[in-house]
Amino acid sequence: MSGIYVYSDNFGLSAALLSLAAQSGEEVCAITLDQDQADELVNYGADRLLVLKGDSPRPESYAKVIAELLKKENAELFLVGSTARGRELAAKTAGYLDCGMVSDAASLVFEVGKIVTTRLMYGGSVVQTEIINSLTVVTVPVGKFEAAKNESKKGVISSLEVKADQRVNIIETSPIKKEGIDLAAADKVVCIGMGLDKPEDIQIAQDLAQVLGAEIGCTRGIAEERHWLPVQSYIGISGANVKPSLYISMGVSGQVQHVVGIRDSRIIAAVDSNDKAPIFKAADYGIVGDLYEIIPLLTEALRNA
Ligand SMILES: Cc1cc2nc3c(=O)[nH]c(=O)nc-3n(C[C@H](O)[C@H](O)[C@H](O)COP(=O)(O)OP(=O)(O)OC[C@H]3O[C@@H](n4cnc5c(N)ncnc54)[C@H](O)[C@@H]3O)c2cc1C
Repeated sequence: MSGIYVYSDNFGLSAALLSLAAQSGEEVCAITLDQDQADELVNYGADRLLVLKGDSPRPESYAKVIAELLKKENAELFLVGSTARGRELAAKTAGYLDCGMVSDAASLVFEVGKIVTTRLMYGGSVVQTEIINSLTVVTVPVGKFEAAKNESKKGVISSLEVKADQRVNIIETSPIKKEGIDLAAADKVVCIGMGLDKPEDIQIAQDLAQVLGAEIGCTRGIAEERHWLPVQSYIGISGANVKPSLYISMGVSGQVQHVVGIRDSRIIAAVDSNDKAPIFKAADYGIVGDLYEIIPLLTEALRNA
C-alpha cells in the first residue's frame, strides 16, 4: 500500500494535513472540490492535487467516489479535516471501504510499517493509542497540526469529472443565529463558574476581561442551569473548545468535562476558594481564595501595570 490522501473543506486544515502527511515520505495527494483551493495548496507539499468536479456542493456526497478512488489507488491513509462536513465524509468513506476509522487524532506518528495515533477518550480522562497497518480513515481537528509551506515541491493539479450521490438534496438553508462571541477564536478568556453568587457579579469578570482584552466564557451550569450567559459561552466537552494564550477562571471547580475544553490554552490561571479543586491540577498558576476579594485586586493591579 502506498499514498496518503487528505481532504478538508477548510483551507487551513487542508494545508496542515498536507504538512503532516509530508512527514511520511510517501506520495501525498490532496483531494478538493475547489479549483482555487487546489491552486493555493500547491505550496504545501502535495505531490498531486485532485479536483473533484461534480454536481453537488456537499463534500459528503462524494464519499463513494472517494472510497473507490482510494481503493483503486491502493491508498494507505485518508486524513480528513474534522469539520462538520469532514466528519460526515470521513464516516461515509470508511463505511464504503469497510475499513477502520480514528476520530479526532491528537497525534499521528509515521513509523516503519505502521502509523501510530493517539486520541482522548472518556471526556479526556484517558489517552487511547491506535496502531494503523491497513487503509484507515483518520479525522484531525483544527489546531492540532501546523501548516508549513513547502516551496520545493509543486504538486501537479488534475481534475476528475465525478458523479455525486444525489439521494440527499438541500431544500433550504438558513444561517445559525449566534449570540455572543466566537470563543474558539479568542486570544484571552475569563471564565466564570458556579462560585459566583448572583448574575450582577458577572461585572467582576467583565472588569477583568476589559483590562485584559479578553472574552467571557463560563461553565455549563452558568449557561444551561442559571441562564446567565448564552449557551455558546460555555466551555467543555459539550460546549466550546478554547485555545487562548491566557485562560483565567474564577469559581470554576475544574471537572473533567470542563477541563477538556481548556486543555489547549497556553496559560491556565485559576482562582478558587477550595484548595482541593481539580482546576488547580490543570492550572499553571493558582490562587486559593475568595474570588470576590482576589479578582478586583487582580484587575486593579493589571490596570495599574
Ligand atoms: C455529560 C456531561 C457533560 C458535561 N459537559 C460540560 C461542559 O461541556 N462544560 C462544563 O463546564 N461542564 C460540563 N458538565 C458539568 C461538569 O461535570 C461540572 O458539573 C461543571 O463543570 C461544574 O461547573 P462549576 O465549576 O462552575 O461548578 P462547581 O463544580 O459547583 O464549582 C464551583 C467552584 O466555585 C468555588 N467557589 C465557590 N465560592 C467561591 C468564592 N467565593 N471564591 C472562589 N471560589 C469559589 C468552589 O470551591 C467550587 O470549586 C458536564 C456534565 C456531564 C455529566
